[in-house]
Amino acid sequence: MKHYKLFIDGKWVDALSGKTFESLNPATGEVNAVVAEAGREDVDLAVKAARKAFESGPWADMAPGDRGRLLYKVAQALWDKADMLAEVETRDNGLPINETKFIAMPAMIDVLEFYAGLANKVQGSTLASPNNRFNYTLKEPVGVVGAIVPWNFPLMLTMWKLAPALATGNTIVIKPAEQTPVSILEMVKIFQKVGIPDGVINVVPGFGRTAGDALSSHQDVDKITFTGSTNTGRLIMQAASKNLKPVSLELGGKSPNIVFDDANIENAVNGSMFGIFFAQGQVCASGTRLFVQEGIYDKFMDSFVKKAQSIRVGNPLDQTTQMGPQVSLQQLEKIQQYVSLGIEEGANLVIGGERNKDAGNGYFFTPTVFEDVTNEMTIAREEIFGPVLSVIRFKDEEDALRKANDTLYGLASGLWTNDLKRAHRMTRGLKAGTVYVNTFSMLDSAAPFGGRKQSGFGRELGIQAMDMYTETKNVWIDL
Ligand code: NAD
Repeated sequence: MKHYKLFIDGKWVDALSGKTFESLNPATGEVNAVVAEAGREDVDLAVKAARKAFESGPWADMAPGDRGRLLYKVAQALWDKADMLAEVETRDNGLPINETKFIAMPAMIDVLEFYAGLANKVQGSTLASPNNRFNYTLKEPVGVVGAIVPWNFPLMLTMWKLAPALATGNTIVIKPAEQTPVSILEMVKIFQKVGIPDGVINVVPGFGRTAGDALSSHQDVDKITFTGSTNTGRLIMQAASKNLKPVSLELGGKSPNIVFDDANIENAVNGSMFGIFFAQGQVCASGTRLFVQEGIYDKFMDSFVKKAQSIRVGNPLDQTTQMGPQVSLQQLEKIQQYVSLGIEEGANLVIGGERNKDAGNGYFFTPTVFEDVTNEMTIAREEIFGPVLSVIRFKDEEDALRKANDTLYGLASGLWTNDLKRAHRMTRGLKAGTVYVNTFSMLDSAAPFGGRKQSGFGRELGIQAMDMYTETKNVWIDL
């Protein structure tokens, strides 16, 4: 059994309370690791270490180009250990090994390389002013960043915050999700080995209401960056409001995925399958509301349902597995409750809807498709965060757009059509941070990602994220 400690000021330490918690392997329900549990005092020590490293010492003095080179070195070390990290992450959260190895790890390291390259490209500007004045702006790091992350892609979503924060010269305290602290702790060992100075990265595994709240309400944290559920986002914003700390929130979604009569059906079926069942449906951008136009409805659904039935659910360490377990028993039970609600409210359960015991003792669920769903039903309104699809028919473009936008969320949306004008019209009409046309769930380090409405605010990835980790200072000089 592996034991992990907190990582504070470059040292591996026990929690001051001596407390630990168990991290389970969702494929077996057995204990994967025992981890030190950070409390408020530990978070305070981590923030102090991050402050010290930000104000003085090698990190504070490092030239941006040197910071970039150091981050490139870490990226190279991560490539060397990518297979090990993929396996650790699969044991931690149940993602199929093919998805951690070939999607999550490469995407995560690519993000670090992207921001390593931007470290020495932070620019202020010189402003037009009278001859006797010099007026310019500086872009400075915000200071100590608090990062609170979820369990669905622990390493990748941590890197979305860690890489731009470090590239711009900040220091950071990371609070992993209590379900999945292990891969983040393993990754930090690699940063440490390559030579990231003490205190620049601190990791405080623990629970939301204790360690998470301590971080988001801490007086000496300059910014909170959060990915997780909309409800927790509200709590974090409240906690941060006590000292008016800026926050960026990447929250939940209920993304529409719209298939028009003129779409290439085979591509739309395959893309929509990926859109809902990738990562066991535990993706914030998942296309959970599938709108299918009347003219192709039967043909499309025949093919979709056959494919969904053939998904191989099982041991996530097996290369042939297409869907692993849900992350926890709590998530599994939440999904089961939503399935019952769907049936009660009159939706037609076509396939799935139950725990998959054949796949093993872990928290496996069968790919689930509901037809005859209306946009008013709970399963079409609330985020389930599991492999449960709600299929809704629509008549025409106007009907599709109205239904698609009739949601509290605004993270992603997809559409499938071969009509170029329609694609552009729909793209303008959809209220979401990302629109996928004839594809779904694409990611690129250069492409900004984030939500509108109750899916949050702020954009991660891309050059835009550099703004989230820098402050603009305006300087006037009287000549
Ligand atoms: P969650 O909100 O339950 O937990 C996320 C993190 O917040 C965890 O580290 C948790 O310990 C912490 N937390 C919980 N309560 C807290 C509190 N009171 N104060 C401070 N921190 C607290 O979310 P989850 O179940 O881990 O993740 C799933 C959710 O994340 C889904 O809603 C999903 O849509 C969302 N998500 C969004 C994105 C995005 O980019 N928009 C990406 C991935 C996941």
